[in-house]
Amino acid sequence: MYLTLRNVEKVYGEGDNAVKVLKGINTDIEKGQICVLLGPSGSGKSTLLNIIGGIEHMDGGEIIVNGLNLAGSSEKQIAGYRRENLGFVFQFYNLVPDLTAKENIEVCAYLSKSPFNTDELLKMLGLWEHKDKFPNQLSGGQQQRCAIGRALVKNPGLLLCDEPTGALDYSTSKEILELIEDINRRYGNTIIIVTHNDAIKNMAHKVMKMHDGKIVKEYTNEVLVSAK
Ligand code: ADP
Ligand code: ADP
Repeated sequence: MYLTLRNVEKVYGEGDNAVKVLKGINTDIEKGQICVLLGPSGSGKSTLLNIIGGIEHMDGGEIIVNGLNLAGSSEKQIAGYRRENLGFVFQFYNLVPDLTAKENIEVCAYLSKSPFNTDELLKMLGLWEHKDKFPNQLSGGQQQRCAIGRALVKNPGLLLCDEPTGALDYSTSKEILELIEDINRRYGNTIIIVTHNDAIKNMAHKVMKMHDGKIVKEYTNEVLVSAK
């Protein structure tokens, strides 16, 4: 199993103000799966993603990613895991405004000693004609493609996407989801996507629904899994 979560808990605040926002999350995700995390606002999706991504600490339970137990790891090990194994994509792109699309991706390639050819990646992302533009000269969809390129350039085992289409219109959202599906097919990354967008159920190998800090429903899309 690529990713295993056992009784993961998270509490915000202390004493009388303590609120448990993750109430024992259990699941397993196989290598190369696209997994979608659905659920209403406030149900704990981003918190769970941030814990899997080593951005936040869990307050109970265990997460084992590719053999590394995050609960028992040092800050240094977690920093190494984030640097080498993890790509993160957010709703609002987080590009460096003073760098072109190409430079935004190149700087990540450089920092991670990437095996990828940046030019090929730009072509795959549909950004070749836009490679010398700055973020404010790109559409929302193009900015998100560039952000995906930044996350992808180190060929991460695990790609975490938090509302990647949250700021985009319907047809651009669809293009971005198709791009993510294409990436999964080409490179075999394990991908977790947090979204409100139900349309994504059709491309996910696994669907999890959260409500009030718990997974209330989970299923595997057997048709997609067997087609892989
Ligand atoms: P979702 O992504 O499903 O919208 P979140 O994971 O963002 O949910 O939030 C889950 C709950 O945790 C919410 O009730 C939210 O208000 C609370 N929460 C999130 N981050 C913090 C924080 N840094 N401090 C206190 N409460 C937080
Ligand atoms: P809602 O979002 O309205 O609560 P559900 O999550 O119950 O809907 O189901 C939405 C879709 O997911 C349905 O079209 C159904 O075909 C599919 N689905 C639900 N459960 C399973 C399952 N165990 N295996 C495969 N597909 C499922």
